[in-house]
Amino acid sequence: MGITSEKIGTVRGVERIIHGQAVMDGAGVKINRVLTQPLQRRLDPFLMLDNFGSDEANDYIAGFPDHPHRGFETVTYMLTGRMRHRDSAGNEGLLTNGGVQWMTAGRGVIHSEMPEQEAGLMEGFQLWLNLPAKDKMRKPWYKDFQAGEIPSFETDAGAKVRVIAGSSHGVAGAVQREVTEPLYIDVELPAGASFSQLLPAGHNAFIYTYRGEVKVGDKAVPARSMAILANTAGSDGVTVTAGEASRFILIAGKPLNEPIVQYGPFVMNSQEEIFQAVNDFRAGQLGEEAHGAAAGQ
Ligand code: FE
Repeated sequence: MGITSEKIGTVRGVERIIHGQAVMDGAGVKINRVLTQPLQRRLDPFLMLDNFGSDEANDYIAGFPDHPHRGFETVTYMLTGRMRHRDSAGNEGLLTNGGVQWMTAGRGVIHSEMPEQEAGLMEGFQLWLNLPAKDKMRKPWYKDFQAGEIPSFETDAGAKVRVIAGSSHGVAGAVQREVTEPLYIDVELPAGASFSQLLPAGHNAFIYTYRGEVKVGDKAVPARSMAILANTAGSDGVTVTAGEASRFILIAGKPLNEPIVQYGPFVMNSQEEIFQAVNDFRAGQLGEEAHGAAAGQ
C-alpha cells in the first residue's frame, strides 16, 4: 500500500535551470558542481552541491586528504561506492551504497574522505548546509546512516522516496534541524508518474535530476541539471512528473538571511571570523578535539 501524494493548491514553477560546472577538488577528484558560490544568497541556507559520478578510478582515486572545515555542515549521500571518513574529533566511518554521512563542522574539524575502492562506479552528492551565526562555533557532530537507516516510503503512484532530512508525507527523515528546517529527499519515479511535495513558499528550494528527465510544470529538467524553484507567493508546494523512469533529489530550507563570507572550507559571517579561522588552523587550534589530553600529541 502506498501513501497518496500530497495535494498542492498553488504549485511552484522553475525560476532557472542550472547546468553544473566541471571542477576538480580534493587531490584531483572530478566533480559536477551545481550549487556554486554566486547562488549561495539565492539558495540560502545551502552553500554548495556537488555531484560526483564516475567509473574511471582516476577521477576519484586521489580522494580528499586531510582538510579543515568551520562554520557549516556537510551532508554526503553515497549512491554507489565506498568512502572512508576519518576526522580530528576521533570519528571514523565507512560510507557505502545508499548511506548518508552528516557532519557538523561547527568550530572546526579536520577530516579526510578517501575512496575505499580501486575500480568501478563511485557516485553521490555532497551538500553544504550553513549554520546560523549562533551555532557556527558549536561543538562538532557527526553521524553515519547506513542505507537501511534512512526512512523511506512509496506512494500509490509508485514514487520511491528516501527522507534524509526534514519530513515528507508524515515520514520524518534521518536528521532534523530547527533553524533552517532543511528538507532533503531522494525520489525515484517510474515513467509517467508524478510526485508532489508540500513546501513553505518562503523556503528556498531546488531539484537536481540525476537519471532520466523530469518536468516541473512545462519545464524539462534533464539529467545532471538543477532547477531552482520559484518562491511563488501563496504557493504551497511542487509537483514533479517523469516522462521516463527518473531519479532526482529535492532540497529545501528556510533562509538564514545572515552575511555569508566564504574562504575555501571556512564559511563565517565576517572577514574577521575568516581571519580567525585561518589563524586557528595555522596554529593547529582548529579541530583541537583531535589532540586532546588522552592523545597527547
Ligand atoms: Fe570535507
